[in-house]
Amino acid sequence: MAEEIKAAESAASNFIENFITEDIAEGGMYEGKEVHTRFPPEPNGYLHIGHAKAICVDFGMAEKFGGKCNLRMDDTNPTKEDVEYIDAIKEDIKWLGFDWEDRFYFASEYFEQMYEYAVELIKKGLAYVCELTPEQMRENRGDLTTPAKSPFRDRPVEESLDLFERMKNGEFEEGKMTLRAKIDLASGNFNMRDPVIYRINKISHHRTGDKWCIYPMYDFAHPIEDAIEGITHSLCTLEFEAHRPLYDWVIDNISSPCKPRQIEFARLGINNTVMSKRKLRQLVDDGYVNGWDDPRMPTLCGLRRRGYTTASIRNFCEKIGVSKTNSVVEYSFLEHCLRDDLNENAKRVMCVINPVKLVITNYPEDKTETFEVENNPNREADGKRTITFSREVFIEAEDFLEEKVKGYNRFYPGNEVRLKSAYIVKCTGCKKNENGKVIEVYAEYDPETRGGDTPDGRKVRGTVHWVDAANYLDAEVRLYENLFTDPEPDVGDKNFLDYINPTSLTILKNCKIEKSVEGAERPMNYQFMRLGYFCLDNDSTAEKLVFNRSVSLKDGFKKK
Ligand code: ATP
Ligand code: MG
Repeated sequence: MAEEIKAAESAASNFIENFITEDIAEGGMYEGKEVHTRFPPEPNGYLHIGHAKAICVDFGMAEKFGGKCNLRMDDTNPTKEDVEYIDAIKEDIKWLGFDWEDRFYFASEYFEQMYEYAVELIKKGLAYVCELTPEQMRENRGDLTTPAKSPFRDRPVEESLDLFERMKNGEFEEGKMTLRAKIDLASGNFNMRDPVIYRINKISHHRTGDKWCIYPMYDFAHPIEDAIEGITHSLCTLEFEAHRPLYDWVIDNISSPCKPRQIEFARLGINNTVMSKRKLRQLVDDGYVNGWDDPRMPTLCGLRRRGYTTASIRNFCEKIGVSKTNSVVEYSFLEHCLRDDLNENAKRVMCVINPVKLVITNYPEDKTETFEVENNPNREADGKRTITFSREVFIEAEDFLEEKVKGYNRFYPGNEVRLKSAYIVKCTGCKKNENGKVIEVYAEYDPETRGGDTPDGRKVRGTVHWVDAANYLDAEVRLYENLFTDPEPDVGDKNFLDYINPTSLTILKNCKIEKSVEGAERPMNYQFMRLGYFCLDNDSTAEKLVFNRSVSLKDGFKKK
């Protein structure tokens, strides 16, 4: 697995890599420096598959150039952040196979330095305290042909210094004042029209408590965080492209110890799901799903619980690549990547999820025989396991029809069917209850076909999976569909909650699985023959086995 990832990584190159290579070749400020990146999540939710892409880019680039990548909690907003989220973020990154070593930081650790840099800007005449209210600021922002206005722009440095300090000391109410960078009120880029860099916010911060009542804006804070950590390349998503001039302006105008370069790449979107943390939180809080790690969620913990492997997600991120154009990737491509991995690596077992009993009437009543079958036809080294066979076995109810239907090769009276790896049996009929429901199917076996081969070479079209009714475990199986019925549930003015798929979860409580899975522990991926890839769920106990279907066998992904 590790080799596979490495091979894929070294094969692909992308525009970010090219930029970094150019920077190194040019020398200058990057001379003698090792490539240093960071992954900066805001600890206000769990990571999702979109973050996995960013993590693979940030850590992946550092790895490729033999550099380093920091993990930084971007916690400059004094909102509720939770240790629960921080711990989960760390766990997910480790699970993806990346390591920040001892470089774990909080942006809030830099508040003091950020404040000092703001004072430096004021002293240089590059920032001023503005007393426009948020509404007035909006009214005065101008348009493409009219510059923005602020009557406070030319206030003396001393006055701004004094007011800024008093803002910090809590003397003014929220919204009364801001600190603005003095850049260009007529700029075609509105982010440069004297953007607010500090605001008053009288909320305690989860780490700094009530020490601060002014907080830096993202566009001011982020370049400083990067500079303090000696980041050489600050990789982020495309929506920050128009903010890059401001990023560079901040770096150029503070006494920055280094000059990080911001490079933007496209965000990952996947259809039939939502990816914003706010929306994901709403799904959790309003009970549409059973927690952040619900197997239907696009969160990394949800995907992990669903049975996704590290290799499948890393390969997915590698294959979608990085580009400058936002696009939506099909969910089926993610599934394709999982199937690719599990086809190679998952152990095969038989499980019947909608059982009906098949009685082999000519088989001795108390006989049981055993078969040695391969655990994984793709890999001999995975060895063999023993399965048992006796007079009664479970088959899927849908593998029996009372009458022949064109193209149907499974059980119907008179038809021969192969019980996978065991015997060829001929269906002789069924028994129904008073409601007309089939409760038993009957067949006779051909003792000459042990192992499932016909000695005379006669054709047997249908092969079905089965479980020995004298030797099995009960299991619950959970089947999943997309969480949303609409491919783009949150595009435009759609309310994503209107598109929740009512059948996204099906629980089957009466499943029968071969005993070889006894004692299995998570993470354990299986192929249930003919049904798909499954894994043990967290809810599974020794007494009650619970499996999730990770993905079906049929590949819905069509190469375009
Ligand atoms: P959300 O809108 O889900 O809250 P966010 O961008 O606010 O996302 P952060 O915690 O700030 O979430 O993100 C940390 C990093 O992950 C950022 O660098 C961000 O650009 C990146 N990231 C977030 N979502 C995606 C995505 N869908 N595709 C690629 N990168 C992403
Ligand atoms: Mg964010």
